[in-house]
Amino acid sequence: MMIVMKAGATEDQVQAVIDRIESCGARAHPSRGEEVTVIGAVGDREHVARLGLEGAPGVEQVVPILKPYKLASSQMREPSVLEIGGRRIGGENFSLIAGPCTVESRDQVMTAARAVRDAGGSLFRGGAYKPRSSPYSFQGLGQEGLRLLAEAREETGLPIVTELMDARDIEPVLEVADVIQVGARNMQNYALLSEIGRSGKPTLIKRGLSSTLEELLMAAEYILKEGNPNVILCERGIRTFETAYRFTLDITAIPALKEMTHLPVIVDPSHAPGRRSLVPALSMAAAAAGADGIIVEVHPEPEEAICDGPQQLHTDGLDEYVARLEQAAAVAGKVLSSAPA
Ligand code: PEP
Ligand code: MN
Repeated sequence: MMIVMKAGATEDQVQAVIDRIESCGARAHPSRGEEVTVIGAVGDREHVARLGLEGAPGVEQVVPILKPYKLASSQMREPSVLEIGGRRIGGENFSLIAGPCTVESRDQVMTAARAVRDAGGSLFRGGAYKPRSSPYSFQGLGQEGLRLLAEAREETGLPIVTELMDARDIEPVLEVADVIQVGARNMQNYALLSEIGRSGKPTLIKRGLSSTLEELLMAAEYILKEGNPNVILCERGIRTFETAYRFTLDITAIPALKEMTHLPVIVDPSHAPGRRSLVPALSMAAAAAGADGIIVEVHPEPEEAICDGPQQLHTDGLDEYVARLEQAAAVAGKVLSSAPA
């Protein structure tokens, strides 16, 4: 159920509704919008209905949420705008998250981070724990990689996005990450999602290689259910019959998700094509289609990269790429959010 408060409802009235929801064993998830506060009540529908909240002071209406993704649903909700390290994600903001696929060395990370900052990037990405198709491939620098990411933030001020693959590594990742990335292969790792939900850390969750949008939203629901509202969804390409590139970037997912959910939706234009020449076009398409941002791989020397070299953009040409991206984002009415809000 969603309890929609009146425009002038007081904080005491909101709290009274929350208390009553929780008194029957359900969980209350308040969301304070600019105009009105809505409170999601997740639990036994019968119990919540019996509270008779329709007549409670400050309550405008009580609406059943028909979708299985109760907290992610756009029903009765304004689009969410997250604030991460002073940068806004969602709404009218277009976020540029850029950085190498994986953290390789101090020099590589610092050079990439400076380039992303100078080009007006919003956040910096880099993997310390890497999900690799082969167990024989480089698996990431682990804690040493996290340390280098912390150094990059220290120097550039850019908030850090980095992947958590295993709940056993959550503590060191929480210390460094401003946003935890859940990789495509872990989208349905429900124990990991719940653990991240309990941590409260903003989370970017990538769509699984063969997952439907509803499955993606149900994955987000695991995080939201634990009381963590800071979830960003990411379309990164899905498996289709096409073999001319690695994955098919599902542009339709952007407007479709926007109808289904209030959560910000970003796009990864790097992993779908798997090659650099296609990345700019996909980036522009995503921005023009209304994505709230992109997460793109960039490297000072992609030819030497340990993983995903062929798809990583050179940090050298970043300014021009960002200028074009700003134009594409403007088509959808969004402005690049680089400086702290
Ligand atoms: C990555 O971001 O480097 C990555 C491995 O992405 P995905 O989980 O989408 O494959
Ligand atoms: Mn990669």
